[in-house]
Amino acid sequence: MKTPEHYQYKSLIEQLNDAVYTVNFDSLNFTSANKAAEKLTGYSRKELLSMTVAQIIVPEYLPTVKKMISLKAKNEQSTIYEIEIIQKNGHHIPVEISSLALYNLNKPVEILGVARNIKERKEIEQQRNIFISLISHEIKNPLTTINGYLEILKRHLKNDSKSLNYLQTISRQTDSINNLMNDFLDITQMKVGKFRIFKEPFDLNLAIKEVMEAHNSDSGEIMLKGKVKTIINADRNRICQVITNLLSNSIKYGSDGEPIIISVKENTKELIVQIADSGPGIPKSEQKQIFDLFVRTRGALNSKTKGHGLGLFICREIITLHKGKIWLESIPGQGSTFSFSLPKH
Ligand code: ADP
Repeated sequence: MKTPEHYQYKSLIEQLNDAVYTVNFDSLNFTSANKAAEKLTGYSRKELLSMTVAQIIVPEYLPTVKKMISLKAKNEQSTIYEIEIIQKNGHHIPVEISSLALYNLNKPVEILGVARNIKERKEIEQQRNIFISLISHEIKNPLTTINGYLEILKRHLKNDSKSLNYLQTISRQTDSINNLMNDFLDITQMKVGKFRIFKEPFDLNLAIKEVMEAHNSDSGEIMLKGKVKTIINADRNRICQVITNLLSNSIKYGSDGEPIIISVKENTKELIVQIADSGPGIPKSEQKQIFDLFVRTRGALNSKTKGHGLGLFICREIITLHKGKIWLESIPGQGSTFSFSLPKH
């Protein structure tokens, strides 16, 4: 017997602005849909109930949806992901899906989904990204000119140590604006799916040595352990960017005077680079989000070390584009080891 609550929930679902629907777990046929689902897709409820999910999803997103549904067979938690659907009039609309499997006798029988139209949000995000990349370029261009004149001035004033000191400070400041703008440009490209990597075969041992040489003056001791024989096929500049980022973090957040150890090794499937410091480490509760955008640890914020929480996010994106993995192991009080792997094939 259906209780009054059942009817209350039903009418509540009818009133929602988000599309709410259920689909059969095996056939992916729609089994129910609310009024907002009709509005979102342009199909009537009757039409939807004779259709499958595959008929309204932009084909390139179908593998994502199938993967999410198969994960549901093992996982009872709700997942959120973005796809595009095709409306009855042929228009493509970006939607955010939250879905949950409904079980009967421990077997998934239906998927309950909520679809939200995110067209407006996507447009705002896109405008914001265009704006950021425009501003970044506008700032970077004069910086190149400033840096050029700084180098000339340094040569002219090579015997005036006081002025040279001032120029070094200006140089450091312009470098940090330049680095920040480069990070912003990388992130905006990543957000719109336009970040590309250009692979070439190279010797990872030499690339690490180059990065170490560029950092030797900033830190006490950086040691390299191990060697790999395999010539890797990857984006050399971007991999150097990852190593540079991890190494400068170890210098910035590690303990003064303690050595930083870079190790490189390989197994049958992958090459692994690890960068270890003996700094304050990162508490367990903060480790999971450490590669997310704008994340800084409470320790870094308290110690007032300068940073923006962009570098590790960029590192993760670069390594993921290479189909590799990046991870952190850290014992608070003893140090942090950041590692990444690159597949050989
Ligand atoms: P940034 O250093 O500019 O803040 P990152 O994305 O490179 O940005 O790092 C994010 C945060 O991770 C840092 O703010 C810091 O809190 C923490 N972190 C990164 N590397 C280390 C490290 N080696 N030791 C301790 N904390 C670190």
